[in-house]
Amino acid sequence: MEKVCVLTTASEQETRAVALKLVTLLGTGDVLALEGDLGAGKTTFAKGIAEGLAIEEEVDSPTFTIIKEYEGTLPLYHMDVYRLDGFEELGLEEYFYGDGICLVEWASRVEAWLPEETLWLRFSVRGDGTREIAFYAGHSRWESICKELGIG
Ligand code: ADP
Ligand code: MG
Repeated sequence: MEKVCVLTTASEQETRAVALKLVTLLGTGDVLALEGDLGAGKTTFAKGIAEGLAIEEEVDSPTFTIIKEYEGTLPLYHMDVYRLDGFEELGLEEYFYGDGICLVEWASRVEAWLPEETLWLRFSVRGDGTREIAFYAGHSRWESICKELGIG
């Protein structure tokens, strides 16, 4: 997978703002894989995506429920597969190839089942507390994303 671009955010608001910009470029069936340690900013990013889809309901970490579904301008499927055990039984593929936008926290655990066009975002905490967000994709659809986000 190619690294498409890297950006830095200095606050929760900045991370949400990146998600708000990105959501304007997303459509039905897009899957975003969110990687990074606990507290790195994955759920914060998901809140920004939800805001961009005009979802009013509070988005929190679906760690215990594995998946939460929200209705916005597009459906949002927000998953946290950290505790997932017995993936096939849950039928998550239905969501990966569904008609909404799918966000998957700890996605590397289900990597084999994700669509080829998945956009990967790796969150990491820098020494100064800022967050690095690196975008990776193996599909040309995402190549222009940095430019469109105004960060390339
Ligand atoms: P994760 O889902 O990756 O475990 P969360 O988004 O739940 O992480 O938590 C990130 C925490 O870090 C929040 O408490 C948030 O306020 C804080 N934070 C500080 N700086 C940032 C930043 N630049 N981006 C995102 N979150 C940040
Ligand atoms: Mg989380």
